[in-house]
Amino acid sequence: MTRIPVEHPRYESLITRERIVEGVQIGITSKQGLIAQGRGETFDYLLGERTTTTAAYAERAAVALLLLAHNPIISVNGNVAALVPDQIVALSDVTGAPLEVNLFHRSDARMHKIIEHLSAYGASDVLGKKGDGSLDLKHDRAIVDEVGIYSADVVLVPLEDGDRCSALIAMGKNVITIDLNPLSRTSLSSTVSIIDNITRAIPNMVQFAIEMKHNKTEELESIVDLYNNDKVLSSAMYEMSETLKNMSIERGIEWI
Ligand code: ATP
Ligand code: MG
Repeated sequence: MTRIPVEHPRYESLITRERIVEGVQIGITSKQGLIAQGRGETFDYLLGERTTTTAAYAERAAVALLLLAHNPIISVNGNVAALVPDQIVALSDVTGAPLEVNLFHRSDARMHKIIEHLSAYGASDVLGKKGDGSLDLKHDRAIVDEVGIYSADVVLVPLEDGDRCSALIAMGKNVITIDLNPLSRTSLSSTVSIIDNITRAIPNMVQFAIEMKHNKTEELESIVDLYNNDKVLSSAMYEMSETLKNMSIERGIEWI
């Protein structure tokens, strides 16, 4: 990994890039994953590279849904495995939601490498290899495990594809997504849309889950009942336009 000085003003963003590149080099992330990360960076720049108050509100609602679920599952792809392997394993442990590897660019070798990678971070019984269930989709993300994503009532799908999000919603599941683009089909179709970088969202969710784990069922249900996803989407767009406005004014460009 290239050494990035901690004092570098774009340290976090550059370290994240290094992690994704390393993911490609060790065969867990696809090359297309690099491009997806680039699109995410653009939206993160507009968001001010921080967790907004409404993103934290969505993260708490997502944790409440996972803790209330009878059969929760966390879907993992090559970008997730490269960026937050330790934290996704921690989230699985604290919420009791198993991990399932699900890939758009699926091969036995990549499935195996990702499962090995997660195991090195302490995961046990990672699902996804069996592939005995099928979603109503024309590409490889349709292949799921019967006991995992197929039968889950709550699915966390970080960095999801819009098609699969809609297919899971059509099956009557509660779908939680993490996607920095508030206008992607994914963000527009999910039950809880977390508009935040996965590198911040998953560690935040681990902390919330530790805090909320012993909450009463009624307390968790009330968090879910009061949750408003449109508020989260419109707030993300408002925050992005405010960042643009402030950056413009700071740089002496009149905001008209
Ligand atoms: P959709 O299929 O939902 O319309 P898309 O086709 O625009 O989405 P994909 O290529 O399917 O996008 O997936 C990439 C998405 O993941 C982008 O919307 C991007 O903003 C988001 N993304 C990429 N990296 C991150 C990250 N580190 N954290 C959060 N979101 C990210
Ligand atoms: Mg897509």
